[in-house]
Amino acid sequence: MHRLEQLNPEQRRAVEHGDGPLMVLAGAGTGKTRVLVNRIAFLVRRGVQARDVLAVTFTNKAAAEMRERLRELLGVAAQRMWIGTFHATCARLLRLHGERIGLPSDFTIFDDDDQRRILSTLLKGKGLDDQVTARTLATQIDRYKNRGEDPMDAAGGWGDDILREIYPLYRDQLARESAVDFNDLLLKVLELARDEEVGPHLAARFRHVLVDEFQDTNRVQYRLVRHLSQVHGNLCVVGDDDQSIYSWRGAEPRNLLDFGRDYPDTAVVKLEQNYRSTQVILDAANAVIAQNRDRHEKALWTEIAGGEPILWEESDSERDEADFIARAIKGLVSAEGRTYADMAVLYRTRAQSRALEEQMRRYDIDYRVVGDISFFQRREIKDTLAYLRLLLHPNADSCFERIVNVPTRGIGKTTIERVRGYARRANIDLYEAARAGARGDVGALSAGPRKKLAAFVDIIEGLRDVLAAGASVAELIIQTVERSGYREWLEKQDTPEANDRLSNLAELVSMASDFDDETDGEGTLVEFDARVSLWSSVDTSDGRSDGAVTLMTIHAAKGLEFPVVFLCGMEDGLFPSLREREGGDLMDAMEEEVRLAYVAMTRARERLVLSNARTRRQWGEIRINQPSRFLDLVPDHCMAVRARPAPRPVRSYLPEPGGRSWSRRGQRQRADRSARGAQYDELDQRTYDDDMPVYHADAESGVGDEGGRRRTPGRSGARLRAGVDAGDGPEAGSMVSHASFGTGRVLESTGSGKGRRLLIDFAGVGLKTVLARFVEPA
Ligand code: ATP
Ligand code: MG
Repeated sequence: MHRLEQLNPEQRRAVEHGDGPLMVLAGAGTGKTRVLVNRIAFLVRRGVQARDVLAVTFTNKAAAEMRERLRELLGVAAQRMWIGTFHATCARLLRLHGERIGLPSDFTIFDDDDQRRILSTLLKGKGLDDQVTARTLATQIDRYKNRGEDPMDAAGGWGDDILREIYPLYRDQLARESAVDFNDLLLKVLELARDEEVGPHLAARFRHVLVDEFQDTNRVQYRLVRHLSQVHGNLCVVGDDDQSIYSWRGAEPRNLLDFGRDYPDTAVVKLEQNYRSTQVILDAANAVIAQNRDRHEKALWTEIAGGEPILWEESDSERDEADFIARAIKGLVSAEGRTYADMAVLYRTRAQSRALEEQMRRYDIDYRVVGDISFFQRREIKDTLAYLRLLLHPNADSCFERIVNVPTRGIGKTTIERVRGYARRANIDLYEAARAGARGDVGALSAGPRKKLAAFVDIIEGLRDVLAAGASVAELIIQTVERSGYREWLEKQDTPEANDRLSNLAELVSMASDFDDETDGEGTLVEFDARVSLWSSVDTSDGRSDGAVTLMTIHAAKGLEFPVVFLCGMEDGLFPSLREREGGDLMDAMEEEVRLAYVAMTRARERLVLSNARTRRQWGEIRINQPSRFLDLVPDHCMAVRARPAPRPVRSYLPEPGGRSWSRRGQRQRADRSARGAQYDELDQRTYDDDMPVYHADAESGVGDEGGRRRTPGRSGARLRAGVDAGDGPEAGSMVSHASFGTGRVLESTGSGKGRRLLIDFAGVGLKTVLARFVEPA
């Protein structure tokens, strides 16, 4: 109890720093988060009350991990600490004090999807939906709010007129429904900070405020932590300017660099030893980040000398890429005894997960998509939550509109229009108007619609009784799904999609059961709802990743680490993404991409695998992509090039913008690589050969088979192994030796005849593909 983890002298200095501002500015994997956790443990050991410590992290997952580590160090005291994201922390403060500024304590949090829905309804209502999308409007609103500006005060520029028309309506609707959007969570706490009564209380509330990933705080968040640490002055921030990847959301890395200006007596600690990654991975990441100008130079080093070379695999298409990754995952499990949980697949854009998920399923690999908005944004989940919200807030018109006829119960557009008209005239909310309609008070409604409305009202009132009777959250959800007719409705449809929806609802029930257990049945529906809303803020992860491969965007991977990392879609245009950001300069955008690459690569502890696809379906069309320029930055000695499937001849001479054919460029690159030292000689010779048209004509080469095999659907990992040609040399699982790579175990074999290749895990050098004829049984 109350012990500290192992620390180096610099880390210890930060951990044991006394009172006053403290900044830890250091590169990836140097133990910044470890310092933060241990500093908290140290403070509590020194007598600081756990409840007086506030630690802010960037994602829910990071918060869960931090709490877990503190539980190990401090025991139950960790439970009393304030650990959470900015959003979660602010939600908690608002539950306590929001009433002071007119926000009821059971307010609802609207996530981005709710926000867009409301904006969309408002735009339609004004006939403006053909001029601007709800998404664009939401982005505009966020941009102002991220800077701490009221959209109404700030919006005056060209193109802001629609914003000025819609925003007040949006704001009013939120107020009417006792709801706040994500940005409001923070802004309302700033408003509280200005309150003469609560403001000083908040400024003194925490003895110590600690912020992880400080380089990604925006102006509003920075103001907030300044206020919360104002009285005691104990603000500890840790960060890395090279990992600032949220400027598009208003993050201001200058917060980190200028911290010393705002706090002149700051103690600054720099950490240089990386404890996470091998030298190879670190060299590669350092070479990439070295591209950027205007950065704090950091000398990162590691004691984990050498390490597995970084693997680079080029595939024909995104499907082949995903197939390769799935097989490599299987291979690493069987060859190295790694678990799925050891591995993560990172990508630049969310859309890339689809192809990956498909292959994960095909190869029967357990996986979990983090930051996947899909679960909580799914229609059935949203619908169910809308029922629950309507129970809590009868005035939640947006929820009413969402579910009054879901599942379909014959309440048509006209009926709803009449209810709406009545509500407007009587100045009441829609649910109240529906009740009036059910009673027969809405004149225009005939008997049929009236009965249907009455049935709907009965459902809601019945559920309200269940709630009042003290049902657990899980029970309430079950009752909702039953009484609303939702389950029956889906069951009747009996389509794969409907069945999917049913299992999602089952998942929601089990989440609610977890919640009930965790809170000893004391947790309220309001709390559950708030938690669900916050899960969809930055990441949707609840920290559970047991036994599954993690799939996520690079953004969501910040601060995490995995023994094995696959970084896919390494293609110019995709990563770096060359889309210009509005209002930003291209150079800045490129530097942010470089930082993203640095973040991605430094998540890996032991193995890093990079992959790109020559063609990819983007925006509905097939594009031919060049390998990412980031690949060229990786120093030669860090990289091993794995087998490249032969390009189909027809595509080999497609022109590229620079006038060269990509395959020629490939040849040049590969030729360069083959000059890079004996270790890869043979491998490169072979891949070089792949580009020779004559090679394709050689039926015996088997290289054509390689391409064909990759396109064969429906093979599982198990069958792949079974598919090894008997009598054609070593089989999967056998030990072989190779002149340059030493001994290793065969994981997989492909092709036949002279072109037969083996994927071998060599004891000294890691995964390699070599021609079968160059190995001998060991
Ligand atoms: P990032 O920049 O990615 O957020 P970080 O600087 O926060 O990284 P941590 O995640 O705290 O780094 O630490 C990286 C890894 O190194 C962790 O596995 C951590 O346990 C380990 N580590 C940190 N310091 C030490 C140490 N002194 N001795 C042994 N292991 C350490
Ligand atoms: Mg960290």
